[in-house]
Amino acid sequence: MSRILVLGAGLCGLTTAMLLARDGHEVTVLERDPAEPPAPADAWQAWHRPGVNQFRLPHLMAARWRVEMEAELPEVIGALEAAGGLRINLLGLLPAERRGEWRDGDERFETVTARRPVLEAVLAAVAAGTSRVTIRRGFTVSGLLTEGSRVTGVLAEGGHTLRADLVVDCGGRRSALGSWLIAAGARRPVEERADCGFVYYGRHFQGRLPEGQGNVLQRYESASILTLPGDNGTWSVALITSGRDKALRGLRDPARWDAALAGYPLAAPWCDGEPAEGVDVIAGIEDRHRGFVVDGEPVATGVVAVGDAWACTNPSLGRGATIGLLHAIGLRDVLHDTDPEDHDKVVRRFHDWTSAAVEPLYRGTLWYDRHRLAELDADAAGVHYRPDDPRWAFSLATFAASLVDPDVAREYQALTTMLATPDDLVSQPGLPEKIMRLGASAPAYPLPGPGRRELLAAIEGS
Ligand SMILES: Cc1cc2nc3c(=O)[nH]c(=O)nc-3n(C[C@H](O)[C@H](O)[C@H](O)COP(=O)(O)OP(=O)(O)OC[C@H]3O[C@@H](n4cnc5c(N)ncnc54)[C@H](O)[C@@H]3O)c2cc1C
Repeated sequence: MSRILVLGAGLCGLTTAMLLARDGHEVTVLERDPAEPPAPADAWQAWHRPGVNQFRLPHLMAARWRVEMEAELPEVIGALEAAGGLRINLLGLLPAERRGEWRDGDERFETVTARRPVLEAVLAAVAAGTSRVTIRRGFTVSGLLTEGSRVTGVLAEGGHTLRADLVVDCGGRRSALGSWLIAAGARRPVEERADCGFVYYGRHFQGRLPEGQGNVLQRYESASILTLPGDNGTWSVALITSGRDKALRGLRDPARWDAALAGYPLAAPWCDGEPAEGVDVIAGIEDRHRGFVVDGEPVATGVVAVGDAWACTNPSLGRGATIGLLHAIGLRDVLHDTDPEDHDKVVRRFHDWTSAAVEPLYRGTLWYDRHRLAELDADAAGVHYRPDDPRWAFSLATFAASLVDPDVAREYQALTTMLATPDDLVSQPGLPEKIMRLGASAPAYPLPGPGRRELLAAIEGS
């Protein structure tokens, strides 16, 4: 049993705390935002969470998140459903002619999801009731306590110090762990960092959940659209564009946003509800990855980073919470199998496991995003995007084939809900050939919807 400090009570911090406490550790979670979580029913209206930029932006939990949560922390799923979280089969969002008859095994595509404040309020309530978990809110960590290259605790605003056997940074996208380590005399972690380049224009709705018409992420010329079911008769819709595409910035105006969405037959029914006021806009989202073992040596021991504090990307694929959950499970397992007194070994093993098991998920997301952003920029320039990367052509063909073949629709759904990897798909005998036969000659944007010119006209004419 170790004394563990978890920095940050966001999605990963709370999940990590519960998993570690369940495994016998004494866990204290330190959260900067002072507000106590309201009851889930009041969380959307009442919870002020400036520490999480994306707090009010659309979120959907992947089916893999539900699968892992049901296995690891089933009471979270129970509490989420009790709070009005929606259990929904993501394959069922496709029209019947695309998915065919229901088959054995299709239940794997089920998820349970909610608006982010509701989801986090549920996690916070379950974590608060978990033995060996203490959550201290209004506690801002400002640096690290060290002995040589070993982190032994944290410093906090107000002059507090807290000691621990292990510090787990779950401070999210804006985590300052890198600068704290350098200030403490450690070597600089390896950091890759760039603006992901996308802008989100999201709205939440309430009413009668629309019938599903297509995948939750839809790719069109100049914009992607997310249609995300939520809790208690709510859902959200987001348009995602390139940040360089100035002509689309009018989407921050609700009337123009409505006019734009009206042109997309698969997404327009999702705007038939009571909208929350205004359009939530988020830009300047970073892709960031940090490595804490440099040239084979940990920059410090006694500290690890989990979830967005380790790596984060543009979120249009909706993978952040699932990657964070898998990462937290991995940390629990490494600590379970490693002598906690062997601080060096803990950090090395977690680094190796992270590199092998979750870094490919991050890299895959980055790969998709880079292509998609380049494609959106090509759309704005009036150029057809044809990169010299057969995997991109294969990915587009997979989607196109999923529109006409129920088997491929399932394979595509497994990919997008993180139940399978691209390698799983490519290794199935005959499947890549079938995908190329059915999808390779599809139009660049196979879904019905406006081209760039019509989209601009809708925004400007409203
Ligand atoms: C626009 C947008 C949409 C998204 N949509 C999805 C989606 O549909 N599905 C999905 O799975 N993921 C989505 N994500 C990603 C998801 O939000 C993150 O992966 C997830 O929140 C990461 O959890 P975390 O605990 O690592 O960080 P966070 O949830 O950001 O929590 C970090 C916490 O640390 C606290 N903190 C920071 N610094 C300190 C400090 N010094 N002292 C004390 N506390 C501190 C913060 O206040 C905060 O509470 C989206 C992200 C964005 C930006």
